[in-house]
Amino acid sequence: DSARHHQDAHQRYVEGQDERHLRQLTLIHDLRDAVSNNELWMAYQPKIATHNGQVCQFEALMRWRHPSLGFVPPDEFISLAERSGNIRQLSQWMLEHVTAQLHEWQQQGHRVSVAVNLSASDVTDAELPRQLAELLARYHLAADQVSLEVTESAVMQDIEAATRTLNELSRLGMSIAIDDYGTGYSSLAQIKRLPVNELKIDKSFVLKIDTQEDDLTIVRSTIEMGHSLGLSIVAEGVENAASASLLNRLGCDYLQGYWFAKPMPSDDVLSWLDAVEVFTFTR
Ligand code: C2E
Ligand code: MG
Ligand code: MG
Ligand code: MG
Repeated sequence: DSARHHQDAHQRYVEGQDERHLRQLTLIHDLRDAVSNNELWMAYQPKIATHNGQVCQFEALMRWRHPSLGFVPPDEFISLAERSGNIRQLSQWMLEHVTAQLHEWQQQGHRVSVAVNLSASDVTDAELPRQLAELLARYHLAADQVSLEVTESAVMQDIEAATRTLNELSRLGMSIAIDDYGTGYSSLAQIKRLPVNELKIDKSFVLKIDTQEDDLTIVRSTIEMGHSLGLSIVAEGVENAASASLLNRLGCDYLQGYWFAKPMPSDDVLSWLDAVEVFTFTR
């Protein structure tokens, strides 16, 4: 009986694996045409500066609606694009699209600043700094209007190449943040050797900071260490007022999360900015 049970479980496991595998193959295949089929777009989520409660920047987040499978989360398709060697194509589309968008907003009288996410293949590509410089020039943007977010693990895949690229981007005047900080294995000592301006604390430490003592301890010490190394600190995943106030009290410089706004389509950004009030944090 237990052997039978085991066999059934195994069968279900194999079928589950097959289904997952099939989905992955489909997504990898169809991702190649996602750009030309206009299936991608960018969503924008604001970051708020705690010192004045004002919006200081938006993060650009990629979105894909597959024609038959519907919305595919970026955590799924970005890692597939990385593994299948298609990520540079997506990144190039993204950078072109975001800088063109900044230009459009600029022409409507709004000087917006955006952070974009980069993958390992982007930060090791020696062509990236030249490409970005070319986009800034083409769209009449200042280097401080485009910041870069890169994970520790992306940088550590090829630390020498990444350091070269990031140094060049930093020389262009771009600000660089370490994204998902705390989930990788690198030390702050390693990170400090990179031209990094900002640490973005991973949302897994932030989501329950208002109730989990351990998370609070981790975030507090990250803020203290980061500040003592001259880095700004951003918390992502701020979902309620209690967490926002707490992070403000801990000295966190910038906050991002559903409490302020979810990622929104580009068409909503200017009207959201017009309507939004200055955020205040209770102490
Ligand atoms: P990330 O860069 O760490 O982005 C933060 C993620 O947290 C986003 O998920 C955002 O929607 C979500 N988030 C923000 N505030 C909250 C909150 O209060 N609660 C919760 N539960 N979640 C919140 P999203 O948009 O699904 O993106 C997932 C990841 O996909 C990103 O993580 C980033 O690593 C990657 N990604 C997205 N767009 C791009 C892109 O254009 N290029 C690359 N290379 N990666 C991208
Ligand atoms: Mg990010
Ligand atoms: Mg993150
Ligand atoms: Mg993340």
